[in-house]
Amino acid sequence: MTNWNVPAISSAKNLERSKSRRKRVSAMQWALIGASTIASQFMIDAIRAQAGNRVASVLSSSAERGKAYAGEHDIPEAFTDLDEQLAQDVDAVYISTTNEKHFPQAMAAIEAGKHVLCEKPLAMTVEDAITMVRAAEAAGVQFATNHHLRNAGSHLKIKDLIASGRVGKVQAIRVAHAVYLPPHLQGWRIDNPEAGGGVIPDIVVHDADTVRFHLDEDPAEVMAMERADSLGQGVEDSVMSVWQMPSGVTVQTHEGFTIRHAGTGFEVHGTEGSIFARNVMTQQSIGEIRLVTESGQETVPFSDHNLYTRAVGLYVDACAGKGTPAATGVDGVKSLAVAAAVKKSATSGARVAVDYGGI
Ligand code: NDP
Repeated sequence: MTNWNVPAISSAKNLERSKSRRKRVSAMQWALIGASTIASQFMIDAIRAQAGNRVASVLSSSAERGKAYAGEHDIPEAFTDLDEQLAQDVDAVYISTTNEKHFPQAMAAIEAGKHVLCEKPLAMTVEDAITMVRAAEAAGVQFATNHHLRNAGSHLKIKDLIASGRVGKVQAIRVAHAVYLPPHLQGWRIDNPEAGGGVIPDIVVHDADTVRFHLDEDPAEVMAMERADSLGQGVEDSVMSVWQMPSGVTVQTHEGFTIRHAGTGFEVHGTEGSIFARNVMTQQSIGEIRLVTESGQETVPFSDHNLYTRAVGLYVDACAGKGTPAATGVDGVKSLAVAAAVKKSATSGARVAVDYGGI
């Protein structure tokens, strides 16, 4: 059995394959690991929107579901065996299985010399996530995390407003990301801790990444409270937390699966102004941004594009040696570290320092 604790590619042959992959141009063949909803709703289209990119295969634990999924999405091949799938001539994998599978599947793909775009949370533990990122570095393959919100026109605009000083010195951020989990997703997320269920691994990671994106710093300490309100069975379906940033900025976040009518929001409050962004913690290019300063208030326009198409575009460019992915592997480790600290605080009642595992 492979020892995944060794963050290195196991054979010279695979390492050579990885290096040649790194030189490849951006017309990539993709293997989907996981016959998932997110791939079906967004990622297959986002991959196909890139010039010359093709979805070659899908992996499912069920031959029947894999075949049906492949047929529905016009994917040439369906596999139930990961090694067989990885033995095909594909350049990159997109991993969107349930969370406990991300680590072993990513390690196998890295070992096979494939670029890896992995769903959040990267793994069940920060240690595993770091092992994945280090193994990819050692193999010379591109590894990225599918945090979509950094790609939203709304968040790119909010970042611009902060960077250009429109709110002055940032003092506080408030994130409203408590939604009602749609019935078709009320499966492993609400009743299976072994598969990485719960709102903390599902949504806190996105909020951590978005806050890090805007402030260019990593949360230092957190305090949190969680509950199982109405959907969660053995996992939390609601959490509120407060994070202390190294600069002194205080962040307040609310994530939930059971709140039907709140909508989402992201507020940035600074010495010279406040940003009120509504409905911007979503998968769609929607929402509105209002900037309030001493001169009054204004609605701020932002660009309208598909978040996932932009993310995959940047990832494909990075695989071809141009630029970096929107959210790297290290970004995925850090968002997971914040979520782990939130969970620890919520279950212990203590104020918890975020442990980034030295990455
Ligand atoms: P799904 O529940 O749709 O898929 C996860 C796995 O469940 C699939 O790999 C599949 O297994 C199995 N599965 C799917 N449909 C069925 C079914 N009808 N019966 C039995 N099993 C089924 O999960 P999501 O697409 O919602 O999430 C997948 C991953 O993507 C998670 O890690 C999640 O955190 C992440 N995600 C990220 C988002 C983002 O914006 N970045 C948004 C949504 C999810 P198999 O492959 O073996 O067939």
